[in-house]
Amino acid sequence: MKYLVLFVVVIVGLMVFKRSQQRPIHRTGKRKALAPPEPMHACQHCGVHVPASRCVWKGERPYCCSEHARLG
Ligand SMILES: [Zn+2]
Repeated sequence: MKYLVLFVVVIVGLMVFKRSQQRPIHRTGKRKALAPPEPMHACQHCGVHVPASRCVWKGERPYCCSEHARLG
């Protein structure tokens, strides 16, 4: 029984060691480049800040949704 426990501990230890060798914790080098930050605009109706790409524009004024653009 003593040897069985020792055997299991050694096997688990080897598995943990192998896994740590395969996947290094700290990856260096290639990292996905993040998209550049997007300007935010405050809705002219409610004041909620919305990314420029999701703004609804009415003339030069940004809105968070078409309903607020309609209400002005
Ligand atoms: Zn709004």
